[in-house]
Amino acid sequence: MQDILIKNVRVIDGTGAPWFHGEVFVKDGKIAVVAKKVEATASRVIDGQGLVLAPGFIDSHSHSDTNWFLDPRGESKIRQGVTTEVTGQCGESGAPKRLDDQDAGQTEAAQGDAKMPTWSSFDEYLTALSRNGVGVNLATLVGHGTVRIAGMGYDDRRPTPDEMARMKEYMKEAMEAGAFGFSSGLIYPPSAYASTDELVELAKVVASYGGIYATHMRNEELALLQSVNEAIEIGHRAGIPVHISHHKACDKRAWGQVKQSLAMIDEARRHGVDVTADQYPYVATATGLSAIIPSWAHDGGPKALLARLKDPEVGAALKSKVELDQGDDGWYRLMITDVKSEKNKACEGKRMTEIAAMWGIPPVEAAWRLLCEEELEVGYVRFAMCEDDVKTVMKHPCVMIGSDASARAIDGPLSTGSPHPRAFGTFPRVLGKYCREEGLFPLETAVYKMTGLPAWRLGLWDRGLVRPGMAADLVLFDPDKVIDTATFENPKQYPVGIECVIVNGEVVIENGQHTGAIAGKVLRRGRSE
Ligand SMILES: [Zn+2]
Repeated sequence: MQDILIKNVRVIDGTGAPWFHGEVFVKDGKIAVVAKKVEATASRVIDGQGLVLAPGFIDSHSHSDTNWFLDPRGESKIRQGVTTEVTGQCGESGAPKRLDDQDAGQTEAAQGDAKMPTWSSFDEYLTALSRNGVGVNLATLVGHGTVRIAGMGYDDRRPTPDEMARMKEYMKEAMEAGAFGFSSGLIYPPSAYASTDELVELAKVVASYGGIYATHMRNEELALLQSVNEAIEIGHRAGIPVHISHHKACDKRAWGQVKQSLAMIDEARRHGVDVTADQYPYVATATGLSAIIPSWAHDGGPKALLARLKDPEVGAALKSKVELDQGDDGWYRLMITDVKSEKNKACEGKRMTEIAAMWGIPPVEAAWRLLCEEELEVGYVRFAMCEDDVKTVMKHPCVMIGSDASARAIDGPLSTGSPHPRAFGTFPRVLGKYCREEGLFPLETAVYKMTGLPAWRLGLWDRGLVRPGMAADLVLFDPDKVIDTATFENPKQYPVGIECVIVNGEVVIENGQHTGAIAGKVLRRGRSE
C-alpha cells in the first residue's frame, strides 16, 4: 500500500470544529500525521488545490445489504464521498436465514441471482461479504423482521415462548458476530406484527452487547408522535440507545409535527434516554408498492398476500381500504420506480395517475395490476413531505445524514430501474443545496452530520475524524461546486465536486474516475481489523 501525502487542503476534521490549512500523511491504511506542515516523504503526493479534505462520509442508513454481491464497486455511494455505510435497516438484514428459506431477507435486486453465495448465520453472511469484497466499509445491524421470519415465519401473531427464545438466540448470534445493533421496520410485516413488549425483550439482548436500536417507526403520518413515544419507551425500558430512521412527517395533515417530535427527542435526552435520528434530504419517500396494502393482509408472507389481492372478495375489500388511504391526491403523489418484468418497464418513472390513464383504468386497479403481474416486486416513490420539515429536521443537533438507499450505478447490474435520486445525490445535496445555497448551517456542521456524529452513534471509534490513528477514509471535495445532479425524472447521475475519495488508505475515486480499487472492510463491532 502506497504512503500518501495530501497537501494544500482545508481540513474539516469531522468534529464540527472550524477548518484549518493543513497536510495529512497516510501510511498503512491509517492517518499517520495531521499537521500544518508534514515532515515526511511519501511515494504519492496529492495536491488538494485548496479544496476541503474531510473524513469519508458515513451513510448512517443504507439498504445495500446484498447488492454488494452484484457489484462490489458500490459506485453511487463512493462517488458521493461515502466510505462507510450502515446496512440491515428497517427490520431487514441479509441474515439470519434458515437454510430452507434462502430467499428470505434478501433485497429484491439480489433474489434468485446465480452469483449469490449462500449463508445462514449472521457470521456466515459477514464472512461472505468480506470474501466477495465491498467498495465501502460496512457496519451492519440485524433486522428484526429477518429474525422474526427465521424464528417464527410470517405470521401475524405473538411468538410462543420457544419462538421468543429462538429470536433472542439469533439476536445474540448476530451481536457476537459483530453487528452494531438491530433495526425494526414497524410498517413492514412481519416486523409490524411485533408488540412493544416483544421489541423491548429483544432490545435487552442487544443492549447487553452495547448495540443500538434503529427503528423505522410504526407510523410517520398522523400517528407520528405516538410512534416517537413508542421508540423512546423501548429505549427507556430496555436501556438501549434509540435511533429514529429517516425522520419525517409523511402526510400533509401531519406536516409541522416534526417540531413536536424533535422536542420529544430533546425531552427524552434530558431524562437520560439516548435518542438520535437520521434523515435523507428529499421530500419524497421510496419503498415497495406492497407497503400500500394494510399489514394484516401480509399475514403468512408474500404468497399469501398475492392470493388475497387476487381473491374477489378480500381483494375488493382491500381495494376500498387502499383507495381511502390514498385520499384526494395520493395516486398522483406516487411514482413507480422499479418493476421486475420487461413488460411493465414503460411504467418506470411515471405517476400512478399517468399509468392509470395509459391503461384506461382507475389508479387502484392499475396498482393491483402492477402488484399482481410483478408478483409484488414494484418500487415507488411518494411525494409526501414538505421542504420546511426537511430543513427543521436537518438542523437538529442529533440528526445525521443517511441516504435510505442501496448502492446503485449508471452501468452494470445495479443500473436497473429509475430509483429515488437519494441513491446518487444525498450527501452532495446536503453540502451543496442545504449548506451552501440555503445556508442552513456551516460546512463544518454539515460534515459533522456525515462523519463524527454517525461514527459516535455507532461506536466506530477509529473512523469519522481526521486524526492520527484513524482509518484513512477521506474525501476531497470542492465546497463551491459540490452538488447533486440526480433528479426524480433522471436519477441515475453521479454528483459533481467530489474530487478524490480514499478508503482505508487506497485511492478509489480520482479526477472523477473509479480506480477499480475495492477497498472497504466488513466491520465487526468491538473488533479492530
Ligand atoms: Zn425505512
